[in-house]
Amino acid sequence: MDIQTIRALIHEIPDFPQPGILFRDITPVLADPRALRATVTHMAEALAPHRPEGIVAIESRGFLLGSALAMHMDLPLVLVRKPGKLPRPTQRVSYELEYGSDALEVHVDDVRADTRYAVVDDLIATGGTCRAAIELLRQRNAEVAVVGFLIELEALGGRARLDAPVTSLLLYS
Ligand code: AMP
Repeated sequence: MDIQTIRALIHEIPDFPQPGILFRDITPVLADPRALRATVTHMAEALAPHRPEGIVAIESRGFLLGSALAMHMDLPLVLVRKPGKLPRPTQRVSYELEYGSDALEVHVDDVRADTRYAVVDDLIATGGTCRAAIELLRQRNAEVAVVGFLIELEALGGRARLDAPVTSLLLYS
């Protein structure tokens, strides 16, 4: 399945979850096994040249693509989660949102130092979430080989906020 067919499956919902946001809904891709397989295959092809040794997936839609990518690429999967979800000792990073702040955590012993990771999420908007995940990995002395998204909202300039190679399957202006 080509990339334009995957793109046609993504729904755009105005004013969700709040006014002014055009929400990109990837659930129709998940509901179509051929589309999900093609998405994972295309994303894996973009990530592979960066020679990642592990996949780091960002909660929560990043988990869906991240676990499929980890299986497809035969790589270990590491979860970056919202605070209070991971049961063992964690490293935490806080980051600013438009209103207020949030934080991400990772199990300290899930991340291997001097190891190359591909960070994945469904979508990059401002880049703040992924930037925090990158910082978290670097605090553990891991390397960010590449970051990969299904969707990039180009107009928000998130890519420029990430100090790592970026690959996106679908670009939206
Ligand atoms: P950001 O930190 O601004 O790059 O936001 C990225 C995170 O927010 C990702 O985990 C996305 O799932 C979610 N997100 C932001 N904007 C949208 C949108 N328009 N549609 C769907 N998800 C979004």
